[in-house]
Amino acid sequence: MIDLRSDTVTQPTDEMRLAMSRAAVGDDVYGEDPTVVELEEEVAALLGHEAALYCVTGSLANALAVRAVVPVGTELLCEAQAHVVRAELGAHAALAGVTTRTWSHPRGHADVDLVAPMVAPDVGPYFVRTAAVSVENTHNFAGGIVQTAAAMASVRALCDAEGLAMHVDGARLWNAAAATGAELPALTGGADVVAVCLSKGLGAPVGSLVVGSREVVDAARVWRKRLGAGWRQAGVLAAGGLWALRHHRERLVEDHAHARLLAESCGLDPATVETNIVVAPVPDAAAVVGRLASRGVRAGATGATTLRLVTHLGISEQDARDAARIVAEELR
Ligand SMILES: *Cc1c(COP(=O)(O)O)cnc(C)c1O
Repeated sequence: MIDLRSDTVTQPTDEMRLAMSRAAVGDDVYGEDPTVVELEEEVAALLGHEAALYCVTGSLANALAVRAVVPVGTELLCEAQAHVVRAELGAHAALAGVTTRTWSHPRGHADVDLVAPMVAPDVGPYFVRTAAVSVENTHNFAGGIVQTAAAMASVRALCDAEGLAMHVDGARLWNAAAATGAELPALTGGADVVAVCLSKGLGAPVGSLVVGSREVVDAARVWRKRLGAGWRQAGVLAAGGLWALRHHRERLVEDHAHARLLAESCGLDPATVETNIVVAPVPDAAAVVGRLASRGVRAGATGATTLRLVTHLGISEQDARDAARIVAEELR
């Protein structure tokens, strides 16, 4: 099977497993796991922030990040297809009392001309107050679209002018950096709080981080424990994350090239595929997924008429070529 459902399906490599087996560990609730601390410091430095908190999933990282900057009863603005509003099962409402309002952009862009008119200042007991803007980079359901450093800087400027916090869901920020060559901090726009995943295309088996100021990360650490998600000798997992971060970032450009091959097979202009996700309109996504599966290609349906193909560490160039041929035949 060539599994293109998601970049979460990767298997840890032998070298990664070896690094994990040798990790120095301690009790992370006491802050004594040296490998977790090393990972947190390395990721904070990469993103140009003070601190980071290692946690189990990107959804938890987003939940802790949003909670840290959006007070109960205020709102977060985000794009209509954002993971925070579509794929986290209402976590921000259910766990943190946060409401959301969305802008829509056909390519998922964080376009300040769309965001600025939505900002609701504090007008007393009438309207919900906007507390923060969330931007997803890259944008998953829009098709792995990169928000440029310039776009991120404009959102930051809007937030500064309006007194809002800025959150970045950077589950695939690494892909945005590989695709553009831009610096990671520029691709976050210097957001107050960022969530990044190690368990997507980077290929670590588990793990995401909340990144921000010491104050934001301390608040996230309290809520992680409160939600029962403090962990003990997590360094075994963090070692896989460190390995992924140090060895699998540069190769992401290969995933992007493979995604462009697949885009062509779907009849899309490969230039519109910026990273490792191909989102293609099809008449009946479930039927196409079924036909592809019977020919050894697993794909995802993210809507009734939307096929999604995602490349990752587990997909070789030969896999991508084989899958592209089969997809082209089935879509013909
Ligand atoms: C995968 C993903 C997450 C987090 O997912 P988990 O499965 O909870 O780790 C968050 N945001 C985006 C954009 C994602 O693609």
